[in-house]
Amino acid sequence: MSRLEKLRESWMHQAHLADAADPLKWLRAHFHIPEKDGRPVVYFTGNSLGLQPRKAAQYIAEELEAWRTLAVDGHFQGKRPWYHYHTFFSEHLASLLGCQPQECVAMGSLTANLHLLLVSFYRPQGQKFKILCEQNPFPSDLYAFWSQARFHGYDPQEAVVELPHNDMAEEEIAQYIESLGDELAVVVFGGVHYLSGRFFRPGPLVQAAHRVGAFFGLDLAHAIGNIPLTLHDDEVDFACWCSYKYLNSGPGAVGGLYVHEKYGGLRDIPRFEGWWGTRSDTRFLMERSFDPAPGAQAWQLSNAPVFNMAAHLAALELFSQVGIEALRHKSIQLTGFLEQGLDQLNEALPHRSFSLLTPRDPALRGCQLSIIFEDEETGQRVFKTLLSEGVVVDWRQPRVMRMAPVPSYNTFEDVARCLCSLADALVL
Ligand SMILES: *Cc1c(COP(=O)(O)O)cnc(C)c1O
Repeated sequence: MSRLEKLRESWMHQAHLADAADPLKWLRAHFHIPEKDGRPVVYFTGNSLGLQPRKAAQYIAEELEAWRTLAVDGHFQGKRPWYHYHTFFSEHLASLLGCQPQECVAMGSLTANLHLLLVSFYRPQGQKFKILCEQNPFPSDLYAFWSQARFHGYDPQEAVVELPHNDMAEEEIAQYIESLGDELAVVVFGGVHYLSGRFFRPGPLVQAAHRVGAFFGLDLAHAIGNIPLTLHDDEVDFACWCSYKYLNSGPGAVGGLYVHEKYGGLRDIPRFEGWWGTRSDTRFLMERSFDPAPGAQAWQLSNAPVFNMAAHLAALELFSQVGIEALRHKSIQLTGFLEQGLDQLNEALPHRSFSLLTPRDPALRGCQLSIIFEDEETGQRVFKTLLSEGVVVDWRQPRVMRMAPVPSYNTFEDVARCLCSLADALVL
């Protein structure tokens, strides 16, 4: 038996043992898994769009029913009155974010929320005008930072500073933050970097930002539902996220935002406001003064988009049923198995064709592993082979392939199938 055949056998064997021992294996049945050629695909792109929870359709249907039968009364009657709809999310989100329920709210969309938060937390004055982010952030975030700087009359190229490297150690990043000193107005990092999958643990970075009088915020697009967070205790000032990635809430689904307790209920903080940001008990008095709702809810503008939020609720209930800690436990094993297989594959091949872009320390990553190919042609060929064999991964220019085994619906066998397909493609 060739070395690669032995590897294939051992991956499958290990996977079957691990799946049999997995206490969360029941969870997969709560999701719709797409098929290719009559077989469930290996879905490793939950970092782009999570799979549909089976309960989502029922929850949306219930709201259609309420609209059909109650019409305007649905705001205050029925199983989940729409007037209070956003409040049904707070406990679920708080347990994922590590914050108090009042510090977070399901609302808006990620980039829009980032702008709303920057209105409150990017208040450049004179020479204190810089925004620091990680190196090569997600483009939408960069567009938000640039346009905010321009809006305040600054040159975006001068105002927006990127970290020199994303593989800097935490102490080095903290030192870099402090080196910007009085010029630094705000730090906004992607919690998990979308390309490399590196997790920026906020704790030490927040302290560094605060030491130079800067606010600290996070874009949690790739972190929420992936890694347990402790935003409140870390004293993160603000954060936003989307819910269609690891939160499995559907394309373009509602996002959310967090603001630390110390800013909740403030009347004088700069903020773009709307009627849903006022206290719910006095809202319909239609007063001419803005009476802020407690906590993060004061940042809300509009009433809840209920159909889209119904899927979000179905998805979050599953998270609460399982608990993020249990998911993280499986996630570390699942991703560790993939990492080990990738290393074995590289060793078995005559020459190295890819290397890992993601940190090897599980504390510095979520479920995603990114590999970078030595040459683009091989990478493209491997990517296409995987897709043709029903292994759904994604490709980012120039030479990066991202694979995200998600603990809620992926199995160890999925990882073994992915490794076998990689082996097929690379020995060609
Ligand atoms: C996915 C993602 C976005 C997408 O923004 P939307 O406003 O939801 O379209 C933005 N930033 C980061 C870091 C992302 O990963």
